[in-house]
Formats: sequence, C-alpha cells, structure tokens
Amino acid sequence: MMQFRDLNRQYEALKAEIDKGIQEVISSSAFISGRQVEALEEELAQYVGLRHCIACGNGTDALSMSLRAWDLKAGDCAFVPDFTFFASAEAVAFEGAIPIFVDVDQRTFNMDPVKLEDAIRKVLVEGKLVPRAVVTVDLFGLPADYDAILPIAEKYGLKVLEDGAQGFGGELRGRRACSFGDISTTSFFPAKPLGCYGDGGAIFTDDDDTADYLRSIRVHGKGAYKYDNVRIGRNSRLDTLQAAILLPKLHAFISHERDEVNHAAARYTEGLREWVITPCFDERFISSWAQYTIQVESEQIRNDLQRHLKLSCIPTMVYYPIPMHQQKAFSDLGKTEGSYEVSERLCKTVLALPMHPYLEEAEIDFVVEKIRDFYEGTRI
Ligand SMILES: *Cc1c(COP(=O)(O)O)cnc(C)c1O
Repeated sequence: MMQFRDLNRQYEALKAEIDKGIQEVISSSAFISGRQVEALEEELAQYVGLRHCIACGNGTDALSMSLRAWDLKAGDCAFVPDFTFFASAEAVAFEGAIPIFVDVDQRTFNMDPVKLEDAIRKVLVEGKLVPRAVVTVDLFGLPADYDAILPIAEKYGLKVLEDGAQGFGGELRGRRACSFGDISTTSFFPAKPLGCYGDGGAIFTDDDDTADYLRSIRVHGKGAYKYDNVRIGRNSRLDTLQAAILLPKLHAFISHERDEVNHAAARYTEGLREWVITPCFDERFISSWAQYTIQVESEQIRNDLQRHLKLSCIPTMVYYPIPMHQQKAFSDLGKTEGSYEVSERLCKTVLALPMHPYLEEAEIDFVVEKIRDFYEGTRI
C-alpha cells in the first residue's frame, strides 16, 4: 500500500550501511557523544556552508536554545509566520517572550515580507514589547524569501532565527537552507527531509561565541568539562546511534534523494496544474519537498477530495489545520491584533500528497489520475 512518506523503502535501499553503522555504535558502546556525532556535525556544517553545527536532541530544543543564546525573555517579542508547525512559535513562548504572528504568502506558504514589516512597525508604535527576532520558517522544504526578509531584519536591528526543520536541502540563489539566519536550526524527526530513527536536531551558526555557548548549554552548561558547570543549561544531545543512522542518510540525500523528490514534484505538477493550485516559486529557489502541498477551492472540496483519495488507499495529510493565532495555547498571550486572511484560508484548502524520494512514477501517476477523476465528476 502507498505510504505518505515511505521510510521502509529508504531503509531497504540503505540497509547495509545503516545496519553497519548501528552495529559499530553498539560494539563501541559510545552511545553518547561518540565519534559519529562529531563526524556528522562536520559534514552537516560543510553541506550548509557554515562554520559550526551543534547537534542536539530535537528541532524544538534547537529553536529554544538558539533563542536562549540571545537572551530572549519576558517583555520581548519575536515575529513568527502564522502558518507553521506549532514548535516555531512555542519556542518563543517557552522562553517567556511573545510570538507576534505574521501572515504568509499564498503561493509559497512562507512569511510575507511586506506583512512582516507592517507587524514590526505596529509593535514599535504600540511601544509595549521589545522586538528582538524574526523566526523565519522554510515551510514544506522551500526557503523563506531571505532576499526580502534579511534587509528588513537588519533595518530594525532584529536577529534572524531560521527554522529549517523542513527546509534542509533547499536553496536560494545557490545558498543552502539552514545558512540564512544569524542562527539556523533543523530537525531530524523521521518524516523530515533528513530524518533519523527517533528524535534529533541541529543548530547552525557562523558565530564562534554563539557556537561555544550552545555547546555548553546542550550539556548542563558545561565549562571546561562536564563536571565544571558555569551556567544553567539542559540535556539535549544527539545520540550516537542517531548520528550513525544519519551519516548514510545524508550521503543518500546529497547524492540522489533531493533530486528524486524534485523529479517527483515536477511530475505531480505536470499532471495536476490544470485542476488544482500546485506549489509555485520562482527560479531563485530549490525546494527539498518536505511536503508537496496542493490548494483547492474550499474546505468542503478539500475534505471530499481527501475522502475520495482514501478510497483508493492514497494517504494525504492536512498541514496545517489551525493557524497559530487560533491555537488555544496562545489564546491568553496578550497578542497584538492582526489579520491573517491567507493563513486562515490555507488551513481550509491545503492538502499534502504522498512525497518521498522512493515514490515510483506509476504511484505518482495513480495519484494524479485519482485527483483528475475527482474533478471530472466521478465523485464518490
Ligand atoms: C518538525 C518541526 C519542528 C520541531 O522539530 P522536532 O524535532 O519535532 O522538535 C519545528 N519547526 C518546524 C517548522 C517543524 O516542522
């Protein structure tokens, strides 16, 4: 049966190397901070093009530790897209600051730079909160529009935290995702473009002091060594086993998987563009296709289409059904009023189709055919 993201097929393809890596870790017993962790950090830093990679426990910790490095705190605010996974905004609130939500661009799903500047101005006029950072999200594998966002952040003296949990492998004008922020983060949750077999994450930066600080707080605020504790930190390391699993996966990602998801996306778009709104961005960008997300006319049609595909055993997902400003967890955050037309509409009209590097052409064609059937009136 067709999988939404087929991790079994990937394992079958990479089994020899993954099994060997796991066995080596078990034989060495270096389960924490083994040599594979450092090897992975070096390869990841080189791939994104920055000096430092700090592997950690998960993508949410990566965001939270980054904001801690800037001492984000009560009275501060950070600007976050309204259409994203909860963790992007949760990390801001977790540090005691207020997330100010910014509506997104309807074609790219990413933060709308014009609305970002409006939101910053509004906070400054109100004068209640101190704007500190912009948390950009590279949603569904596509880098945010850093050509527009970085100058705005600079103009208002804001740090940029790139949430590249879904963006790893994407590019903007030849520069890789996870290199655009003052600090950038990613997640190795299994379903992400580069996923491990459990939880994992990483932080990227070019700033030496920030890197030192992050390496300290991920291990209980260590100083010269583990039992010299110079600040309050936490425990957020990437296990050696996960690093050993990620190394061959990273090599496959670089050598062919990213190309394969791009090929799959092009085939979907070719087959679907006369029926639905297909993902769209200009030639400055390359996506790593964490998701392939279509838009339809209404919530009713989206739900009918999802049901129709399910009858043919085609799994689909709604990323995301609730905009950040309507999340219950944020209901008591003295938030600044804004309008979020685009993200409210997207929550009703998006549908993510099966997408992964091991999807076969015949499977893509089957999904396309079933969507065409739906639109041609054979609705069941
Ligand atoms: C998955 C995800 C995260 C969180 O990553 P975890 O490793 O699950 O903690 C953060 N932001 C975005 C946009 C994500 O998709």
